[in-house]
Amino acid sequence: MKPLQIEIELQDNQIKRIKNISDGVRLIIEGKSYFFQGGYLLPGFIDSHLHLFGIGENEIVPNFKDITSAEEIISIIKDSPFFRNNWITGFGWNEENFADKNLPDKRMLDIAFPNIPVCLKRVDGHAVWVNSIALQIAGISKHPTGILVDTAKDNMLNLIPKYSNSQIIKMILKAQEILFQFGITEVCDMDTDPELIEIYKNLDNENALQIKVHSYISAQYDDYLRYISQPYLGNMFSIDGIKLFADGALGSRGASLFEPYNDDANNSGKIQIQPELLYKKMQVAIDLGFQIATHAIGDNANHIILDLYQKLSQKYINKDIILRVEHCQMVHPKDLIKFSNPRIFASVQPIHYVSDTKGMAQSRIGKRLEYSYPWKSIINYGGTLLSGSDAPIESPDPILGLDVLIHSERPDQILDMESAIDTYITNPRKLFRNNSNNQINQNNLPFSETNFVILNNDLSQKSFNRTYVVATIANGNIVYIDNKYGVINE
Ligand SMILES: [Zn+2]
Repeated sequence: MKPLQIEIELQDNQIKRIKNISDGVRLIIEGKSYFFQGGYLLPGFIDSHLHLFGIGENEIVPNFKDITSAEEIISIIKDSPFFRNNWITGFGWNEENFADKNLPDKRMLDIAFPNIPVCLKRVDGHAVWVNSIALQIAGISKHPTGILVDTAKDNMLNLIPKYSNSQIIKMILKAQEILFQFGITEVCDMDTDPELIEIYKNLDNENALQIKVHSYISAQYDDYLRYISQPYLGNMFSIDGIKLFADGALGSRGASLFEPYNDDANNSGKIQIQPELLYKKMQVAIDLGFQIATHAIGDNANHIILDLYQKLSQKYINKDIILRVEHCQMVHPKDLIKFSNPRIFASVQPIHYVSDTKGMAQSRIGKRLEYSYPWKSIINYGGTLLSGSDAPIESPDPILGLDVLIHSERPDQILDMESAIDTYITNPRKLFRNNSNNQINQNNLPFSETNFVILNNDLSQKSFNRTYVVATIANGNIVYIDNKYGVINE
């Protein structure tokens, strides 16, 4: 698929008429006409792997990542504290940004908040900074600093009361607003907390959810079965699958490799659930009708998951099943052929490649980088690539992802523009619409839905530094418009 200059008339959330034009995009919605001079249109982007609630949470909970002193953090939370029930929380502090580079301590918090428990997470999530009241509540009697790590940190985080429903709703709607700014009209929400299901259903019923959310419920432990026993299909919210983890990440050397890490000769990572048990969990979920999405980063993890998927594909030869590998960062060349199975999808996050290779990937896996992030290789073997961002870990912007796919410095992994766009548009639609090709072509129109993104150019540029979303249309309504662009109301 490629960006088009087109005139589209929408009415009652349906496409009425469509015509090619040559100077931009004209949208006629319920009789009102908008002209985007020089613009190009595509169906709405789908992000195949993100964490919707986390995007909103990151936006709404105070973030101290740019703050340069502990004193300033305290004055910010004094002015506008963010409460979870009676606790004050926040995140993102980093003593590396402080002038003295010293860790903050509990005494400063105690002076400002002698009676209210305060718990502030460090930028990497691996430490918390708390006051004496919080320590008391945790049953820690004498702690010199109030900086907790590891288990003590986890125990402390577990004591913090949950967000209120209204806070959760605010976060979900904030995430929706942000995603619309990036032209995203549909998402696969990974590791959805089963406790959020009712809230999503309510938002959907009240028509507050305008972005389409396909959730993959966190299923590493079987407790998800207490909440759901079959897929759910609402209007804008659905439960499509479950999410499992085969291994960890490269950064923390938790990804499971065939051979040890280059920078840790005794460590080759770890498989989180033994393959036999993983297979059983997958079978249970498939029998209930769920899609399977499994996190696999290391070459050993990908090898194991692809083998399990092949076995499942044979066992369920007559059932409509979808098997997704999340991340696929290191796929040994001998395993690539397994992606030719049309029921197996490779879900990748192009932007991770940039962050990982700027950072630790070379030192972790050395020469094995050559067969890592194998986007084009998967396609060459007949595989189907889905792109996502893993937001809020990375920016959700699909243009950044497209930029990486199309303009990667690795000549052997570069995708042509249309194949790259397909990973955000046509390929993910195959997950949710049986025989999506037919649907996309119904009535001889190139589109089957009223979700669109309008861009300021046709993505043929050598770099996308100046490419941006001009407008987003979801369910036949304009849900985002860049006012700087100068849209003409006709
Ligand atoms: Zn993720």
